[in-house]
Formats: sequence, structure tokens, C-alpha cells
Amino acid sequence: MKKNILKKKCSFCGLNEDHVSMMIVGIDACICAECINRVHAAVSEALNFQKPDIAQVKRRKPQTKTSAVPKPEEIKKFLDQYVIGQDDAKKYLSVAVYNHYKRIDQDVNLSDIEIEKSNIVLVGETGTGKTLLARTIAKMLNVPFAIVDATVLTEAGYVGEDVESILSRLLQAADYNVQAAERGIVFIDEIDKIARKGADNPSITRDVSGEGVQQGLLKLLEGSDVNVPPRGGRKHPEQQYIVVNTKNILFICGGAFNNIEKIIANRLNTQSIGYKAVQEKDIIDKENLLQYITPGDLKTFGLIPEIIGRLPVLTYLSPLSKNTLYKILTEPKNAITKQYLRLFEMDGVKLEFDDEVLNYIVDKAIEFKLGARGLRSIFETVMVDAMYDSPSDVQKELCITLQYVKDRIEKLTAKLRVA
Ligand code: ADP
Repeated sequence: MKKNILKKKCSFCGLNEDHVSMMIVGIDACICAECINRVHAAVSEALNFQKPDIAQVKRRKPQTKTSAVPKPEEIKKFLDQYVIGQDDAKKYLSVAVYNHYKRIDQDVNLSDIEIEKSNIVLVGETGTGKTLLARTIAKMLNVPFAIVDATVLTEAGYVGEDVESILSRLLQAADYNVQAAERGIVFIDEIDKIARKGADNPSITRDVSGEGVQQGLLKLLEGSDVNVPPRGGRKHPEQQYIVVNTKNILFICGGAFNNIEKIIANRLNTQSIGYKAVQEKDIIDKENLLQYITPGDLKTFGLIPEIIGRLPVLTYLSPLSKNTLYKILTEPKNAITKQYLRLFEMDGVKLEFDDEVLNYIVDKAIEFKLGARGLRSIFETVMVDAMYDSPSDVQKELCITLQYVKDRIEKLTAKLRVA
């Protein structure tokens, strides 16, 4: 009897020390190792429940769902770390993405108002950051993300890819997890290249009318069950399909819409004739007409009204000024200069750039009409010798001077001339 009283008993499960692997003794209570494990599992689960990732939001209670989606201001701040300028586009995107995930999370049983999808069109010259914006949003939300090029899409019966192959890419990005893919983001690049041929749109060179592809895209954009060929490409009868519902997939379309400024200018001119003509003309910023773009301009360009209707958020990206290009080199979280500093640092080399070097590279990118995309290729040309030599060099400091850059860019200029 006395022996039994001395035996320690777990205050949680009641087992005594002979029946457990280990007993921890407190002031007025004991706990066995098995109960510690159970408590640890329960606490971890509870903590995870408070900080879910976006992919888990669907399973949570309605009142806490939207708290997992970053607010528009937070989304914009995140974008600011990677994308320079383009404030209007960032604002529109942040609001559209926030509303999109609110819409997904709304409890259909509690609401009789159906919030419509906020698919987005980004209009802006090539290399101004359209893809970067979409990619950065996907990175922030940690959802599957796919980039597709509208130029490879053709209507059924022609050589090219079926529109459904867009979703094959998303499935691949989601590791074939259909549920995850159904909350993903698709960036359709060069949407302007599937515009209808017409007098207002002389730049289109497709031999197959883009209108058929636009019709095909409609069912994806509006939200429906789509039979997706798992490997993409053309569908064929004996193939097995995966059914993907596009209702909650966010589509972001991007395009340069070459010469759309003329359409905008024409419209603005016509509108300005008459009442208040002078004042309206005065406030128009002719250097950046894209900021006045309307859905009607897209229609004039050659997108069909049904497509425009399913892309309700329309915004623009400004051309990159010299100042912006300079900032792109130095400011973003993964700016090109920061990447090179890191690469050399990994070899124990301290790299420095003379300030005039960066200005010179920016000037060359503008001269070669390469935009932001060109900054990287110019840098690669400039740095290749240094990157080749420095790992085996004893010198632990390297300063890139203007003369060093000029010598190497001459080679690139010669190459571009030949091309
Ligand atoms: P687009 O899709 O508009 O043709 P991208 O987004 O692919 O252009 O931009 C090409 C590259 O140029 C990006 O990877 C990025 O390095 C750089 N870039 C372009 N615009 C910006 C910007 N506004 N801020 C930071 N980097 C940019």
C-alpha cells in the first residue's frame, strides 16, 4: 500500500510511472512523455490554425477567412519592394487581388449577392513590368502561377495550342493538385496579339483570325468546368482530361497594344471638341496617353466586347524613364546590382561600381531601345570577364570603372550592329 502511494501518476492520463516511458514532475502535478507529445501536437495544430497560408483559407470559418489575405495596402507595399514606379497599376492590382480572394472566401450560404470576378488587363509597352507585377503577386500569395503566351494559342482546327493548354500550365505549376490550381493565377501575355484584324489595328499579322481564340478564352475567363489535357498542346479524342473549374482562377492579361495611343488620342480629340474643349485639352498629358485608356479603346483595337466584359479591371503601365531605369538597377529587393554584389561576395570579392557606370549602362539601354530587359543583358556583357577571372584571382576587391564598361560595351555595340 505504502509503495503504491509513492508511485508517480500522470495528472493528465492517470497512468503511473511503470506504464509510461518517462514522467516529468511538477510542484503539484506530473505529466508523462506520451501526454507531452499529445499536448505538443494539439498546441502546434492550434497555432497553425491561427496563421494559415492562403491555400488553407477555404477551410476556415467565414469570419476569419479574409484576414489571411493581405490588405490592398499591404499588397502594394510588397509590390513596391520588387517593382519600381507603376503606382496606378499596383493600386488596381492590389484591390483586384484582394477583392478576388474576398470573393472566393465569401460564404455563399450567408450572401445572396454574387461578387463578380475581377480579372485584369495590364496595358503597357514591353519590358515595363507587367509580368513582374503578376509574378510578384503570385509570390506573395503563395498560389500556383503560370505564364502563357497568347500568340501560341489558335482556334480549334489550326496548328498551335488549344486555349485549354493555358490550364495545363497552371496544373503543372500546382503539381497537378487540382484544388490548388483552381485558386491560382494565370498571366496571359500578349493578349493584344489575338485582337481581331481591322482598320484600327494594322499591327496584327496573324493569318488566323484572333477572334476564334478570343471566343475560346471566354469560357475560361467567365468560370466554368474545363477539360484540360494534362500535358497541354492539342486535345485529341483518346486523351484523358482533368476537369478544372476556372471560377476562382484569377486571370491577369498583359499586352503592349502597339499604337493604341492613336486610338486614345482620337477619342480624346473627338471628346474635346465642343464644350470645355480648351480646358480638357490643356490637362491631357500627351507623353503618357495610356493613362486615359478605356475599355472602349480595347474594343476599337480589336478585342471582342465579351472578352472586355470579362476583364473588368483595366490599368496601364507607364514607359520607363531614365530615372526609373536607374532605380531598377539599384533599388528592388533583388536589383541587378545587388545580385552581382552577392555573386562576388560568395567568392570573397568586394565589388564596387563607380556611380557614372550605372548612368552609362542606363543610357546604353535607352540607346539600344532595350528597356529594363536590356539592363540585364548589358550587365552580363560587362561582367563576364570579371566573373570568369575573379574566382581564381587573389585580388579581393574589384571596382568597375567607366572605362572598363566602355571597353566591353563596344563589343556589344558591334554585335548589335551585325545583328
Ligand atoms: P513586360 O511583361 O511588361 O514585357 P517584364 O515584367 O517581363 O516586362 O519586365 C522585364 C524585366 O525588366 C523584369 O524581369 C525586371 O527585371 C525589369 N523590370 C521591368 N519593369 C520594371 C519595374 N517597373 N521595376 C523593376 N524592374 C522592372
